[in-house]
Amino acid sequence: MELSETQFRRYARHLILDEVGEEGQEKLLQSRVLVIGAGGLGSPMLLYLAAAGVGTIGVIDNDRVDLTNLQRQIVHRTERVGDLKVESARATLAAVNDDIRVEAHPVRLGPDNASNIIAGYDLVADGSDNFATRYLLNDVCYAERRTLVGAALSPFEGQLSTFKAYLGPPHPCYRCLFREPPPPDLVPRCETAGILGAVAGVIGTLQATEVLKEVLGLGDSLSGTLLMYDALRAGFHKITLPRDPDCPTCGRPP
Ligand SMILES: [Zn+2]
Repeated sequence: MELSETQFRRYARHLILDEVGEEGQEKLLQSRVLVIGAGGLGSPMLLYLAAAGVGTIGVIDNDRVDLTNLQRQIVHRTERVGDLKVESARATLAAVNDDIRVEAHPVRLGPDNASNIIAGYDLVADGSDNFATRYLLNDVCYAERRTLVGAALSPFEGQLSTFKAYLGPPHPCYRCLFREPPPPDLVPRCETAGILGAVAGVIGTLQATEVLKEVLGLGDSLSGTLLMYDALRAGFHKITLPRDPDCPTCGRPP
């Protein structure tokens, strides 16, 4: 593909980087990224991926915009309260970059539809807020051989990692780290626990950066590493995630 005059201007700050350049920008424009959830993490991811020129962005969410979402879900607007989140996100992204395609999936991701939807994309970014989805994504992305950039939030903290255990050792999957979901009553969600909105912005933006790095093949992948952010201490730290040879997901061939 050849970049147009408009694309040369729009992506000028990417094109000037040796690490991206025309070749990298073309890779981005040809890539297909699926974002799970148009919420606190999904909002900054969608905005940055659209701005960067990720050519096809899938977004899956069956919720509607609620006034309480706007404190952190910055892809939505007050006048879109009551609209489907995927349609609200699509409208914002179209205004940011009319050079890309947004595929809206107004459904709940479940065992019945996950493989079908995920197989249509190159890479998956998890902005969901529940363990059922997180484990489902881990297992389906492993089976479909798709890289998964995952993240989680608590009121003042966040963590993220990249999973591509389908490449074999030493890459771990999410189940290597946490084999079973915790009991539901131990898991506070944003709606009950609260969250400082900008913390979702920090982690979602880091996730967008890791997605772009994976598509471009730049720098160090977070595969095998958990990056943790503590907003109150204003600190980051990393821990190593080993692969578990007895893992129920990646202990078997995909
Ligand atoms: Zn595993």
